Amino acid sequence: MPLIHMPIDTISKSTNPPLVEIRGLRTHFFTDDGVVKAVEGVNLDVHANRTLCILGESGCGKSIMARSILRIVDSPGRIVEGSITYRAANGRSVDLAKARPGSRMLREVRGQDIAMIFQEPMSSLGPITKIGQQISETLLLHRKISKTEAKEIAIEMLHKVGIPKPAERAEAYPFELSGGMRQRAMIAMALSCEPRLLIADEPTTALDVTTQAQILDLIAELKDELEMGVMLITHDLGVVAEVAEDVAVMYMGRVVEAGDVYSIFENPQHPYTRALLESVPRIGAERRARLPAIRGMVPHPLARPSGCPFRTRCDQAMPGVCDKSVPELQQAGETQVACHLHDMEATDGR
Ligand code: SF4
Repeated sequence: MPLIHMPIDTISKSTNPPLVEIRGLRTHFFTDDGVVKAVEGVNLDVHANRTLCILGESGCGKSIMARSILRIVDSPGRIVEGSITYRAANGRSVDLAKARPGSRMLREVRGQDIAMIFQEPMSSLGPITKIGQQISETLLLHRKISKTEAKEIAIEMLHKVGIPKPAERAEAYPFELSGGMRQRAMIAMALSCEPRLLIADEPTTALDVTTQAQILDLIAELKDELEMGVMLITHDLGVVAEVAEDVAVMYMGRVVEAGDVYSIFENPQHPYTRALLESVPRIGAERRARLPAIRGMVPHPLARPSGCPFRTRCDQAMPGVCDKSVPELQQAGETQVACHLHDMEATDGR
């Protein structure tokens, strides 16, 4: 068991239909050097009032997958296949993958129903506009309220995210706040319209551990209060163990294992998930023992291996099997896993 605290009350699973259902999503970048398949057939469910952590090394497609949901993938990238079904509060389902860029529906969903926060707050905050005004403008864009009401809600949101003297801070420019305060202000802006889904892309990576813990606690509190779904993108297993209820492990644009956090940590099925967990310090391990590392590097995106994308680094790769076809996600015990080892188990069990 890794040296991290994991709440045991995370085992229960949601029985409601997912808030967002992603099926067969492919997002490719058409560069002069070739096609980069950043997201290559992702299937995922995000539920209301649950936190789904997307885990994986840098460059595994986590952020591009999240940006695809909001249709904010930069050119030359675009969704080439798949669906992103969003269930709105009125019960209506829309496929965000098929929405016309710039359409009214997409503008309404963005910010109001689905909000996103980034690692760097200045990606969302304008540098030359006061914090309170920026939050008010977001509110006025999505809600039928007066300027005075918007200002009052902005101050209330700053208070809610733990910013001291919120009325004073509302009059400050982003550069006048510390990194942690800017992050809180960005969260206040993202949550001001009470979104049904919050996508947080490495929101605490650049912060010190104390501020990181405060921000994660804040997101968890607001999730419970607003019954919001949270998709948290991270490469930090400690963060996953602390806040996740569901986990999806990504490698080279694909989900290789998905399940509830307890099953993933207690009984991981995919060699990549196992290797990630083994690289975390354990209680009782020899003091001077070296931590195992995953051998090799993530292959260049323009040189994807044939078959299983993890086979060049996998100690259990089977020649003639793993290089022939891409394993599909299938149920294996309590988790879903994309690995040919489990095809073998299924065949043996017949
Ligand atoms: Fe390893 Fe083969 Fe499983 Fe890929 S499919 S993770 S190469 S055993």
